[in-house]
Amino acid sequence: MKNLFRNIFIFFVVFLLVSLLFSSLSGSKKSNAVGIEKLISQINSQEVQSIVVEGNELKITLKDNSTEVVKKEAGQPLSELLNNFGVTGEKLNNIKIEVKDESGVNFWVNTVLPFVIPFLIIAFFIYFMLRQVQGANSKAMMFGQSQAREFSKEGKEKVSFKDVAGAKEAKEELKEVVDFLKFPKKFTDLGARIPRGVLLLGSPGTGKTLLARAVAGEANVPFLNISGSEFVEMFVGVGASRVRDLFKRAKKSAPCIIFIDEIDAVGRRRGAGLGGSHDEREQTLNQILVEMDGFDQTTNVIVMAATNRPDVLDPALLRPGRFDRQVVLDEPDIADREAILKVHARKKPLAKDVSLRLVAERTAGFSGADLANLLNEAAILTARRNKKIIDMPELLESIEKVMLGPERKSRVLSEKEKKITAYHEGGHAVVAHFLPNTDPVHKISIIARGRAGGYTLKLPSEDKHLRNKTEFTEEIAVLLAGQLAEKEIFGEVTTGATSDLRRATQLARRLITDFGMSKSLGLRTFGEKEEMVFLGKEIHEQRDYSEKTAEQIDAEISSLIDQAAHQAQGIIHNHREVLEKVVGALMIKETLEKDEFEAIVGQKEIAKG
Ligand code: ADP
Ligand code: MG
Ligand code: ZN
Repeated sequence: MKNLFRNIFIFFVVFLLVSLLFSSLSGSKKSNAVGIEKLISQINSQEVQSIVVEGNELKITLKDNSTEVVKKEAGQPLSELLNNFGVTGEKLNNIKIEVKDESGVNFWVNTVLPFVIPFLIIAFFIYFMLRQVQGANSKAMMFGQSQAREFSKEGKEKVSFKDVAGAKEAKEELKEVVDFLKFPKKFTDLGARIPRGVLLLGSPGTGKTLLARAVAGEANVPFLNISGSEFVEMFVGVGASRVRDLFKRAKKSAPCIIFIDEIDAVGRRRGAGLGGSHDEREQTLNQILVEMDGFDQTTNVIVMAATNRPDVLDPALLRPGRFDRQVVLDEPDIADREAILKVHARKKPLAKDVSLRLVAERTAGFSGADLANLLNEAAILTARRNKKIIDMPELLESIEKVMLGPERKSRVLSEKEKKITAYHEGGHAVVAHFLPNTDPVHKISIIARGRAGGYTLKLPSEDKHLRNKTEFTEEIAVLLAGQLAEKEIFGEVTTGATSDLRRATQLARRLITDFGMSKSLGLRTFGEKEEMVFLGKEIHEQRDYSEKTAEQIDAEISSLIDQAAHQAQGIIHNHREVLEKVVGALMIKETLEKDEFEAIVGQKEIAKG
């Protein structure tokens, strides 16, 4: 639109210039212009020496050598004109009359150009309009094309399997895929069917995208990369046409890999949407299914996809012939974490005494992305301290930063608030310390961090995959301990404990409805969680139990929480002097490390497993 206005403006200026030019051209001949009557009287009084006829102009030279110009009607011969005015032949005898063709320039300027210019301008205008429409048009044509990008095979950012630490099984599986692409004959000769689709599953940050890029780097075939959300536009039908275009491109450049990242954006279970536009998503998904079926045995194209929500995927995507290979990326265990740290430490100068093993030990539950982020934070912290080499303190500090968000030292607590926070965190820590099945306390702080006013950091001493009911109830007790300590000391609670309470309640509910850990309700789950597509969260829970059971569940949750609270309260009551000591230390130092804490409370006794 802006363009159009600009063009119109330019036309206007050009037009003005041209017309100015012409008016100055035609006005440039400086002769006396006189009327026809004057000429007649001059002829009658024998003053005229010669008349030159040039088009519609009569150039008159008088006997005193002055010149003048007279205009006459176009197409009227001079003799007729003179006759009309009653000028007779003899008066003209002494006058030299000459008829000239119009001069070239004059002819063009006066006759041709006035006709041509409007045409030119109109033609120009139409040309511009067309060009603009064409521009818009070609964009509209691009709309249905997939926006898949091709990873460059040689570029600087080439990723190989070496850059992916851990994830052994996943790498094995994918190496096979690379083999399929490189030596299809080896497999087809044995009658093996080349896998169509490989689905990478894993929580966010476990390296799905990274692994896919590594496959691209290793296979040395074109790698078309698109994100699931890029299929879906505001306009109906675009998604499906993009899918068609993507697969067409892939078939043209076979052997090749298509990678659809975050496929859950289009691959959700069909028929689960709220509004109307889920139709579009479904069409897109259908088109993917159709295209994947459309490959024949010899097409050497493999479709990879990644998601962290396999539970919401449409079952049709997962059946044999489509994404039948599923590669699961687990949260890294301690050895993997060390390996990932090593990969990311390659380009960073680390002090000699840095133990990445120790960092790995302290980062249970971190994903690959968290670990990469940790090393980056450590490097930033080191730079900020004007040091040249990353050392252990920076690494350890970065663990907490990644886990809990940055410290907010600027938030000043009043002495009273500080005291309340100290008792709250002290309560969490002391209860965690005296319960046998909880993770040991690593750090306590009353400095605000992220959204928390203070925090107590517990870290598991080893990776855990299974947990039992005792561990869960003890965890609930620890969560409640903060508020209970406040109550024990001040007789009143503050607003600082809402998230503790919410987490405790959620945990208690899951124990009963998901884990079958309730005595009276038995071994079953309650509630079918159904995803509501547009609201994004599991807000809709289908009840598969009666009203009476619902009451029972509520009662069980309450009793679980009561029990845990009782346990926590007992500990706080019995170890009041320990709590006071911890609070005293917190008021002075604000942050207690593991050894400082244990100097006060003693070594933690851990239940024998
Ligand atoms: P997602 O699974 O969410 O797609 P990404 O593949 O995008 O995760 O991983 C994010 C970042 O985390 C990567 O760029 C990489 O730096 C790091 N990362 C994750 N897993 C690994 C791993 N196994 N080895 C090395 N780096 C990893
Ligand atoms: Mg990803
Ligand atoms: Zn708390």
